[in-house]
Amino acid sequence: MAWPEGAHRNNAFLVLHVFLQGMVYTEYTWEILGYCQELDFSLCYLLLPHLLLAVNLVFFTLSCLTDPGTITKANEALLLQVYEFDEVMFPEKRWCSTCDLRKPARSKHCSVCNRCVHRFDHHCVWVNNCIGAWNARYFLIYLLTLTASAATMAIVTTVFLVRLVVMSDLDLYVDDLGHSQDVDTIFLIQRLFLTFPRIVFLLGFVLVLSFLLGGFLCFALFLAATNQTTNEWCRGDGAWCQHCPQAAGTPSAELRAYRNIHSHGLWSNLREIFLPSTAHGDRKKK
Ligand SMILES: [Zn+2]
Ligand SMILES: [Zn+2]
Repeated sequence: MAWPEGAHRNNAFLVLHVFLQGMVYTEYTWEILGYCQELDFSLCYLLLPHLLLAVNLVFFTLSCLTDPGTITKANEALLLQVYEFDEVMFPEKRWCSTCDLRKPARSKHCSVCNRCVHRFDHHCVWVNNCIGAWNARYFLIYLLTLTASAATMAIVTTVFLVRLVVMSDLDLYVDDLGHSQDVDTIFLIQRLFLTFPRIVFLLGFVLVLSFLLGGFLCFALFLAATNQTTNEWCRGDGAWCQHCPQAAGTPSAELRAYRNIHSHGLWSNLREIFLPSTAHGDRKKK
């Protein structure tokens, strides 16, 4: 395994990704772990984000360094046999003039990496690699563990702050008559922010991240379950459905004729992601 070949590749987003992940974990370890241990939180529970990070880093590295399915003269003939041409989105007689190769169905030329990729999904700037047939499984697990680590960090931080509020009576104030009164939520958040600004900021950040990543993960799982790539979904404008012949009056003749011919049921679709066809060819047209 080696860094895939490609011209004009930019590592800026990859470096930013590693930097942000490092910052969040440092902050979590420094601020939350220390306080939580004083509050007798279970260590297994507190270290769950670190365990997820270890798994995440393995799959991040695999997503970065695994060949996504580069089409070459050597494997061109074999990969042409893997998927059926639909003659709508992927016509049979198409060439990539840059690579001087025939284009297998579901492949695409990546202008960033300057190569044609088998079952092209998208070019991910965060891992600085294309996501294709041979690394889609790693990318999916990477996304899953990244979302899980952000979510567990958000849960631990929230539980810590709630316990802290209850223990330190931050949710109460004493009025002019000397009676304890509940403070309202906005005031409580302000109080927490003034007392623990870095922890509240961390919680806000990981909460937003959890929702964004969760949304992206759901989309990626939906595509995997229905055997679509992001490239196909965008080009088909989300119109792929093997059960739905196109509605009459669809403006584009291309869309009208189009339906997903690659989906063969949930388990078959997932098997295709997790046990992809290789350059040695273990899969033929269905
Ligand atoms: Zn090409
Ligand atoms: Zn690429």
